[in-house]
Amino acid sequence: MKCSSFLVRLSLLCLLTCSAVSCLASNQADQKEQQTQSQDKQDKLSVLLIDGQNNHQWQQTTPVLKKILENSGKFTVEVSTTPPGVPRKARKPANKKLTPEQEKQFAEYLKAWEAEVARLQKENPALWKKWRPDFGKYDVIVSNYNGESWPEEVKQSFEKYVSEGGSFVVVHAADNAFPDWPAYNEMIAVGGWGGRDEKSGPMLRLREGEWIEDTSAGRGGTHGTRIPVVVKVRQPEHPIVKGLPQEWMHPADEVYGKLRGPAKNVNILATAYSEPEQRGTGEHEPIMMTIDYGKGRVFHTTLGHDVTALQGTGFQVTLQRGTEWAATGEVTQPLPKVKWNDHEPTVQEP
Ligand SMILES: [Zn+2]
Repeated sequence: MKCSSFLVRLSLLCLLTCSAVSCLASNQADQKEQQTQSQDKQDKLSVLLIDGQNNHQWQQTTPVLKKILENSGKFTVEVSTTPPGVPRKARKPANKKLTPEQEKQFAEYLKAWEAEVARLQKENPALWKKWRPDFGKYDVIVSNYNGESWPEEVKQSFEKYVSEGGSFVVVHAADNAFPDWPAYNEMIAVGGWGGRDEKSGPMLRLREGEWIEDTSAGRGGTHGTRIPVVVKVRQPEHPIVKGLPQEWMHPADEVYGKLRGPAKNVNILATAYSEPEQRGTGEHEPIMMTIDYGKGRVFHTTLGHDVTALQGTGFQVTLQRGTEWAATGEVTQPLPKVKWNDHEPTVQEP
């Protein structure tokens, strides 16, 4: 009896000691993990990706853009979503007589639309007052935003951030935004739509190997049918495109054309031919560029209309490298080992 009680106590003691040791070990492992994670965070470049309004499916493209950046192992990405925009009012079909039932449906739609607009107009001012991204906290800001004007205070803090050495990346329709914000237009060099015309600045045109400014009158911003396009590298030694094929095929996307703007301090890295037979301009349109704005660096890609376009290996590589370049002025990412297709787009799941 005595002996067995001693054994019980011994095994209990052992159990307690062992669990204390293993508990200590697992605590140490947790700490180590946390340290690695925070070290990782310190080593990585921090990105703030802005969305919230866009005439494109930003709810679909933002997570993919985030994944592409994270896949590089170089970035931590936070998303800041602005208050929602007012939905566009659908128009009644002009060339078709509606049935009474359709008339009724349209009237109901209009009523619901008006109620939604009234709700947003009531709620949004307070939401905008709260939307104050702390740009200075991040190494680089990426915009997937094309919507209403930001509050003056946010615009001023963004201008200050970029001009004092911050970094900015513009993706696709983000270059449609803010036609009336002079500093923003200097940052993106050229943009489209939103009433842009010759007063916004020239178009950039490639003539005999040189970029010239075309000041002729006309609207800024157009694109032809969405088809796969050949991307042509124009600055093969620039770190963002260095080592990439001279030309590669990108999946169906919009080739923005006739973009206009101040076009100052801009360096065009790649172009795509805008097919006249596909309602394009017949020009080699600038589609990837870097811009110096004050002490800041900007990378601008006009590609990336939708999730299909974001599958392009070349899009992904240049977004990753362009974002690193904007943040640091260097590119340390090696090129992925992929076989570039000759006659079809080279794509990969982000
Ligand atoms: Zn688009």
